[in-house]
Amino acid sequence: AIISISLPPEQVDVNIHPAKTEIKFQNEHIVFGAVQRAIRQALIELAPVPKIEEVATAYVSPPSAPRLWTSAGGGDRPATSPSPTYPTPVVSLPLLRVLGQLASDYIVAEGPDGLYLIDQHAAHERVLYEKIKQQRSGQKVEVQGLLEPVTFEVNPKQDAVLKSHYEDLAQFGFSIEPFGDRTYLVRTVPALLHNKDWVGMVRELLDSLSGGDWVESIAISIACHSAVRAGQSLTDDEMRELLRQLEQVTMPHTCPHGRPTMIHLSSGQLKREFGRS
Ligand SMILES: [Zn+2]
Repeated sequence: AIISISLPPEQVDVNIHPAKTEIKFQNEHIVFGAVQRAIRQALIELAPVPKIEEVATAYVSPPSAPRLWTSAGGGDRPATSPSPTYPTPVVSLPLLRVLGQLASDYIVAEGPDGLYLIDQHAAHERVLYEKIKQQRSGQKVEVQGLLEPVTFEVNPKQDAVLKSHYEDLAQFGFSIEPFGDRTYLVRTVPALLHNKDWVGMVRELLDSLSGGDWVESIAISIACHSAVRAGQSLTDDEMRELLRQLEQVTMPHTCPHGRPTMIHLSSGQLKREFGRS
C-alpha cells in the first residue's frame, strides 16, 4: 500500500540530513494524525465479516487491525493487494432474529444464511461511535450538567496534555475549565457518560495520548466507556434494539478499534461441519 502525503513546501525542512534520507515536518502531529486517520479508515472499510474458519486463524492472538488484511482462505475477498482506490463501503446487515445471549458477552442471532455471533460491546461501541461523531459534526452534542461542578486534579503529564486539549473535549460535551494549580473544574459531561466513570475515561485518555488524532481518540473513548460491557446480561428487547441500531450504521462489521463486531457461520458451513453436504 502507498500513502501519498501532500503539504505546502514551507511545512517541510529537507535540509536536516546530508543524503536527504530524513526530513523534518514543521507540524509533525498534524502529519501523524492524517496518516493515522487514513490507515484506520482504509483498514476498517476493507474489513469483511470474518467467517468461522478464518476466525480461528486470524484472531487467535489479541487481534490488531492490520491482520484483517491477511485473512487468507475462506474469505469473500482474494488476499491479493487491494486496489489503491477505496470505494465507499456499501455494507448492510441482513435481517437478524435474536435467539439468545451467550456467556453474557455475545448475542446469538439467526440470519437468512446461517448463524451470527455478535460481540455486544463491540457492536454497541460502533453504534455509539457513529452517533457521537454525527452529533459533534452537527454541533448537536447531548450534554449532561453536573449538579455540583466536580474538581478534577491531574498529574503534571496529564496537565500538559489537558492544557492544550480541553477545547477538543468541549466539542464532545465536556465543559472543563482551569481552576488553579493542576486542577480543573468540570461542569458538564457528554450525556452518554452520565452515571459512567467519566473521570477514569478522561484520565485514561490523557495518559494514552501524546500525538495523533485527538478528535478520533476522544470519540472512540467515549463510545467505549458508554457502551454495554462484556459480561452484562441483556434482555431480549435490549438485544433486538441493539441489532436494530446496528442495522442503521454505515460500518456495522467492525468496532471503531477495527475489531470485528460479528462472526458468521453460514448454512453451507453448518452442513459441511455436520457431514451433510
Ligand atoms: Zn471498547
